[in-house]
Amino acid sequence: MQTILTESPEVAAGFIRNGGVVAFPTETVYGLGANLFDALAIKRIFAAKLRPADNPLIAHIGDLDQLELIASEIPESAIRLMDAFFPGPLTIVLPKTQKVPTVATAGLKTIGVRMPAHGLAQDFLKACGTPVAAPSANLSGRPSPTDWEAVMEDLAGRIDCILQGNPTDIGIESTVVDCTSPVPMVLRTGGISLEQLQEVVPETSIYKPRGNEKPRSPGMKHRHYSPRAEVILVEGVNAEPGEGVAFIGLQVPSGNFGELKVCESLEEYARSVFAFFRDCDRHGIKTIYCQAVEESGIGLALMDRLKRAASGK
Ligand code: AMP
Ligand code: MG
Repeated sequence: MQTILTESPEVAAGFIRNGGVVAFPTETVYGLGANLFDALAIKRIFAAKLRPADNPLIAHIGDLDQLELIASEIPESAIRLMDAFFPGPLTIVLPKTQKVPTVATAGLKTIGVRMPAHGLAQDFLKACGTPVAAPSANLSGRPSPTDWEAVMEDLAGRIDCILQGNPTDIGIESTVVDCTSPVPMVLRTGGISLEQLQEVVPETSIYKPRGNEKPRSPGMKHRHYSPRAEVILVEGVNAEPGEGVAFIGLQVPSGNFGELKVCESLEEYARSVFAFFRDCDRHGIKTIYCQAVEESGIGLALMDRLKRAASGK
């Protein structure tokens, strides 16, 4: 299959309306979209990414009116969180309608909904005229793509089209909050911090599966965010330099590294980490040292991604 590159949201939306799969930029990472109500098109997302069938997709909307097509009920906590953070890097999990095919939700009776705060994504979603189901536009297990070149690297020849935008602003995925339980539960940390959520709904908590409980966010058990190089999480600049060795963090380590990225802020660290992982792979780096950060604000989501990359899970 030929993958068309375009800067036109209308051209990209044309592929969605014809049952195709299209990568598009958002403020978090690039997504790989298909018409939410077209089960065959949704299956093509799973095939292109080699994504396990038990990993649900997020429904992206360009218009709040589309919510009633997707969600059968909108609890009070969800209304408050949507008022505060839509459009933005927040996904709300709600009970799904019959109309949403179960392939999209990996068999779950719930659906994650997000409205991106990104001009080109909004123009694209409006032109599609339908909610668009989209996971991140990478091969399953690889670091999420933060520029269209990374999408090309993983998916050229496997998808219909890439809507070319700028590199993404936040660089890690949306926060996923389950609003189907009395207390909103954070299933995945991300672009909106726990502190921000708690300002709006103070009882919001981080979900941790108890004992043998089936995890509520099935996708989180799969291997994630992994470069080919080994990732080692370190305190401070405690890293062994070398040619095939890389370092990313907030302080300057001593010695010479094959790849080095010193970030000025947590935000820059989060924005750069996945692209850095991919750069390291392109340059044959064998070991990547990542400086640990404090687990508050965006630091909580960043540490989640670093720990998963380091553990290979
Ligand atoms: P990705 O966009 O590739 O990061 O994948 C979307 C992720 O959102 C999944 O791996 C899940 O962790 C989460 N997610 C999506 N839909 C649901 C849902 N209905 N219930 C729980 N988690 C979900
Ligand atoms: Mg993903």
